Amino acid sequence: MTDGLAERLFDQLRAESFDGVGITRECYTKTETRALRIIEAEAQRLGLATSWDAGANLWAELPGTEPSLPAVACGSHLDSVPQGGNFDGAAGVIAGLQAIAKLKEEGFQPRRSIRLLALRGEESAFYGQAYLGSLALFGRLRGEDLATTNVSSGRKLGDAMASVGVDVARVEQGEKLLDPASLACWLELHIEQGPVLLARDMPAAIVTGIRGNVRHRAVECLGEAGHSGAVPRWLRHDTVFAVADLITRLDRHWRTLLERGRDLVITSGIIGTDPAEHAMARIPGKMTFSLDIRSQSPETLEAFYDLFLSECEGIAQERGVRFTTGRRVDAAPAQMDAGLIETLRTQLREMGLPDEPIPSGAGHDAAVFANAGVPSGMIFVRNANGSHNPKESMEMSDFHVGAEVLRRALRELAA
Ligand SMILES: [Zn+2]
Repeated sequence: MTDGLAERLFDQLRAESFDGVGITRECYTKTETRALRIIEAEAQRLGLATSWDAGANLWAELPGTEPSLPAVACGSHLDSVPQGGNFDGAAGVIAGLQAIAKLKEEGFQPRRSIRLLALRGEESAFYGQAYLGSLALFGRLRGEDLATTNVSSGRKLGDAMASVGVDVARVEQGEKLLDPASLACWLELHIEQGPVLLARDMPAAIVTGIRGNVRHRAVECLGEAGHSGAVPRWLRHDTVFAVADLITRLDRHWRTLLERGRDLVITSGIIGTDPAEHAMARIPGKMTFSLDIRSQSPETLEAFYDLFLSECEGIAQERGVRFTTGRRVDAAPAQMDAGLIETLRTQLREMGLPDEPIPSGAGHDAAVFANAGVPSGMIFVRNANGSHNPKESMEMSDFHVGAEVLRRALRELAA
């Protein structure tokens, strides 16, 4: 029943969501629902009970002999960024389904129920905030989050959620749609989105913690437009020079904090003058940029954020410009559970594989579970060419190593 299962499911998902360049499974759309339905149909074929929660996420279950005990849960998300890859998120859902199917096939009768969760809305690409599905589950999305508009369509997040069956009224009230105490743990397999496993020649690794972030989607620097030839330097309010100055200063602070042993990464991935009005001979009166600050330490995030604000203030005074930051979006860092890290590492060692745990630079739903009080663990699978692009590539042999670690851990934790 499980031979070729994962390969077939990856193919089906790809066929459903190929956009001509990569994979697009936009959160809270029909495409995402179709992906969830593929998993639902397979789970039912395997004889697992399936259900949908009030956040419109899919569950499949292998019932335990003591179903009142907190369940052992695993899974990941099924949405993707625009023109992304097929494995980001989906690998964790398919690995969970395969692991549970194998345990069932072996005739294993767990004491605790084993539950698979296929989440929606993990990626921040469409609404500027990550973990939408898991935050909604734990009552952590607010009205202002639901009013966020889609970057391309302008549609409100709340409307998109309602369109796929999310009980938006309960989400808006901050109601917990899932009781964290109903889960004994959360295990998430995910492709590594950085280059470490490839460089170290390891098929899989266990994750120690997940970096949190503080982000602004569009900081605006406002100055004064003018003729490039006519305005002398001392009368200019040039926003490009101001933003360049800001980024140079931030880079200097970043280096200093790294030298002090802090964990920190800074990115300004979107930056530009307005094409509708910019010109070679025009002093730019307005510039917009994004800012993405990540660290495993909440203190480091706040310290760097304070430096950012004070540098904005200093540059505003020196250069006669103004900064408006817009909405600040936070995602808290998270530690993985020490006991689960050990359980997962033990499986790697027993399989005769190298065991070197690594931190996660990218965010994952496991961070939300951990911060909601559910002990969480993560397995990374080697993946070439990074992620959030169509070239992301995981060898199926590596996937099966990670999925086997998951199967063994589920068996141990549910017994
Ligand atoms: Zn992901």
